[in-house]
Amino acid sequence: MRELEEAHQHEPAVTKDGRHIDVVCNIAKPSDASKVLQHGGEGAGLLRTEFLFESAPEEPSVEQQIEALKAIVKELGSRQLVVRTADIGGDKPVSWMNMPHEDNPFLGVRGLRLSFKHPAMFERQLEAIYRTAAWQVAEQGKTGLHIMFPMVAKMSEWSKASQLAEQVRQRLDAPVLPLGIMVEVPSAALVADTLAKHVDFFSIGSNDLTQYTLAMDRLNPALCCEADSYHPGLLRLISMTVKAAAANGKWVGVCGNMAADPNIACLLVGLGVEELSVSPANVAAVKSIIRSVDYSKLQIKAEKALQMCSSEAVMAMYQSHQDLV
Ligand code: PEP
Ligand code: MG
Repeated sequence: MRELEEAHQHEPAVTKDGRHIDVVCNIAKPSDASKVLQHGGEGAGLLRTEFLFESAPEEPSVEQQIEALKAIVKELGSRQLVVRTADIGGDKPVSWMNMPHEDNPFLGVRGLRLSFKHPAMFERQLEAIYRTAAWQVAEQGKTGLHIMFPMVAKMSEWSKASQLAEQVRQRLDAPVLPLGIMVEVPSAALVADTLAKHVDFFSIGSNDLTQYTLAMDRLNPALCCEADSYHPGLLRLISMTVKAAAANGKWVGVCGNMAADPNIACLLVGLGVEELSVSPANVAAVKSIIRSVDYSKLQIKAEKALQMCSSEAVMAMYQSHQDLV
């Protein structure tokens, strides 16, 4: 089975009735970039940039950041590369930043909130991204770079971050890049109709969205169970986000771990998600299941899932695909 899936991993993921789903990859360091293409990924839907900060004894210079980004861009060419600005804090501490102790770091100063506390560092990261884009356009004529902000909970955070990015871009006379946000805080999904008027795209961070929706620490092994990704409350937040995006002509991807499970990938596609970002090793299986099903049937099944009252009931419904082919 695995061999059969891998034999077709470089072919696009198109459902039997013709809906194309972008299957891209999550990467976390420059050496991951070659795995994207080897495994049939169509780009990178999430570059976790924390590696730049975690592994260094101090903040890396703009030049060092550009060097790391260029190494990835050289592998991916002009394919999509969604660079998430530093999501430090929570489960991703950085020792040299001397971050103050917090009783609840997942509910504390993390992601974009931390970037706002260190605006010069945030600006330097944005500068590195825009200068890499300018270099790529000069060298190759186009760029697939996108910028994505993590942990956005409210409109004012998006406004502040996107304005700062635009100031940096104008100062450098760099190309315009699509700007989007992670939807991983329930409040962002709940106001997605407002946010969708302004952002270029949404990417659902289901690891955190599940944690914050179900009030369950993502690192606590006593809490998480397989059925959680099927919770109708989580699915409704995803559906709201997709509908808000569609009404405003914007696209939605999912970059959390749930996208890598072929059963859940079917559910997400049925909800209207257009891009699945998974680890390179999962590309073949996700593409394979998408090719075996009908999008129109996925939509009907997802509508039923949204009306169900338990995660277990939804999970049971997705264990078989006989009704989708
Ligand atoms: C997520 O929260 O789903 C996500 C992709 O981001 P991270 O796992 O890096 O927090
Ligand atoms: Mg997250």
